Amino acid sequence: MRLVRFYDSTYQYLQLREQIHAAALEVLDSQNYILGPHGEQLEIEFAGALGLPFAVGVSSGTGALHLALLACGVQPGDEVITTPFTFAATVAAILYCGARPVLADIDPQTLNIDPAAVAAKITSRTRAILPVHLYGLPAEMTPILELARQHHLFVIEDAAQAHGATYHTHHVGSLGEIGCFSFYPSKNLGACGDAGILVTQNPELASRVRLLRNWGQTEKYHHACLGFNYRLDELQAAILRVKLKKLPEWNLSRRKIALIYEQSITTPHIVKPSWPPGLDSAWHLYTIRTARRDELRDYLQARGISTAIHYPRPLHLQPAYSHLGYHVGDLPNAELAARQVLSLPLYPGMPEDDALYVVETIHSFFR
Ligand SMILES: *Cc1c(COP(=O)(O)O)cnc(C)c1O
Repeated sequence: MRLVRFYDSTYQYLQLREQIHAAALEVLDSQNYILGPHGEQLEIEFAGALGLPFAVGVSSGTGALHLALLACGVQPGDEVITTPFTFAATVAAILYCGARPVLADIDPQTLNIDPAAVAAKITSRTRAILPVHLYGLPAEMTPILELARQHHLFVIEDAAQAHGATYHTHHVGSLGEIGCFSFYPSKNLGACGDAGILVTQNPELASRVRLLRNWGQTEKYHHACLGFNYRLDELQAAILRVKLKKLPEWNLSRRKIALIYEQSITTPHIVKPSWPPGLDSAWHLYTIRTARRDELRDYLQARGISTAIHYPRPLHLQPAYSHLGYHVGDLPNAELAARQVLSLPLYPGMPEDDALYVVETIHSFFR
């Protein structure tokens, strides 16, 4: 039987294997492991790729979100508006600051946060809006930025799934005050371990984040404020520098597979991802919706095709966040999406025949 993996990084690794080995060996030989020259260069190169002046490397995407919120002054008593339909880290980062996550429902078409729902949740305590570019598709930023301007709020973008995506020619991560990226291995740009980065136009925010990521130290053993150990390590930075050069090519490769799905899936029983004009998704995931999701998933699995569900339960219904006081029915679009979404196999270098086999198998399920 043909086997189609949901995700496979072998193609990416083999393309760069020698260069990754050389980069790693160089760091090992240097014996300089944390916050060194590769981290500094990665910051310059990553910021440059987004057309921004500042980037600060950190130890994960979660750390990036946490520090972004802190740098914007988010504190206990504040509210931060975000989406319930995202990975747990987005909401956790708000809770780490002692602030209250206020969840605004998603747009049923894009599955990104609905700007009208955001507007309805703004109060005098709102400090920031935290949109997520889910699956790599840019959130609807123009109305979000306009709301932020009117109400003097910070906009922090969770771009953990959207390296290289553009919103009307602007790189995501560059639209709000701070953009946060994850380099978790399976992200569009992945390290060989955990890592992340923040980007900003604002030199003060950049230096505050720099301080916070390394124990609040203005100089060695002088702690100006409560800081964290969220430093980027050199091994990851050196490897990421090698891989960053391939990001545009890998995103194009993802897009090619997405285009095959977009053009070849014709059954009316499936809702394909929205593809709004002017928005260029990073195609982190290709996620369809169908009322018969679980049946379809089993059918595909039995025919060698692995899929995944992002995410099976919206965050307002997670036990960990039950103290926020939300109930079933409060955020219906997110709840419906959680029952219907199914992410199809997609990765750079995925054979086109595999994508066509996925499409064929989907069609045979509905016939
Ligand atoms: C992966 C991810 C994160 C967290 O990134 P880590 O590097 O794993 O800490 C945050 N938000 C979203 C939307 C993600 O997909």
